[in-house]
Amino acid sequence: MTTPEPAKTYRGRLAPTPTGHLHLGHARTFWLAQERARAAGGQLLLRVEDIDRARCKQEFTAAMLEDLRWFGFVWDEGPDLGGPFPSYTQSERRHFHLETWRQLLEGRWIYPSAHSRKDLEHAPRAPHAGEGEALFPAQWRPAPGTWTLPEQPDGSNWRFRVPDGERLEFVDGRCGRQSFEAGRDFGDFVVWRRDGVPAYELVVAADDHAMQITEVVRGEDLLLSTARQLLIYRALGWTPPAWFHGPLLRDAAGQRLAKRTAALSLRELRAAGKTPEQLREGWALMADRAETT
Ligand code: GLU
Repeated sequence: MTTPEPAKTYRGRLAPTPTGHLHLGHARTFWLAQERARAAGGQLLLRVEDIDRARCKQEFTAAMLEDLRWFGFVWDEGPDLGGPFPSYTQSERRHFHLETWRQLLEGRWIYPSAHSRKDLEHAPRAPHAGEGEALFPAQWRPAPGTWTLPEQPDGSNWRFRVPDGERLEFVDGRCGRQSFEAGRDFGDFVVWRRDGVPAYELVVAADDHAMQITEVVRGEDLLLSTARQLLIYRALGWTPPAWFHGPLLRDAAGQRLAKRTAALSLRELRAAGKTPEQLREGWALMADRAETT
């Protein structure tokens, strides 16, 4: 008789980037993540995504933890609590990121690119390309055999070579079926930067995998990034988590809340005497309005 596999425990994460003070938009996405983890009887971890040291400040990290706690977030593992998958501070996870880079290199999934993001600004744009970065031109890929495998990534931009023409599909827990075409909706993307900083797509996939995250909850602005991350999971033979992309909060003018919208930072709202309950009620009202208009 075979024993049934134990049910896989839900593991979710909050992954804030400390480049400024947290605002209501972040809180809403994180709240969704917390509610989903609780509803599943699972665990929630906090990972500080400070990989871009030039943009992230220590003072923002401390403020962020304080704001999250004030708002009512409770996590099971984190930089302040520790846990079984250290470190919970992304800039201290470089060995995981380097190992992932190495595996991608060994599988020939990535290549060093002499072209910078600046060059890309002047590249011809695909007619359907949206506001994001221009598609990396396929003719800028180095010819096979024109570069050798280095020991370290530093000094070059490294890009993931996407399978042109292939559709990447996944079912999102909120947005439903998604489909993006490689080479058309997105091109070869950076996994490691010339200045030695690993890129978001690589670190987030490496860390979510290493920390055994079973569902990623984040804003719907990252749906396309999920297609890129799926290519990394597939290249390395990793099982991807489930995906749940939440709605983005907009201000009265319909603009997305950004960190620079200081008036809506949790700090300012708290200083103005708002309580977390009032703020949550506020976004419930916003959602109702959005559905009835
Ligand atoms: N640190 C990223 C952000 O703040 C997280 C994105 C993600 O959840 O994958 O946008």
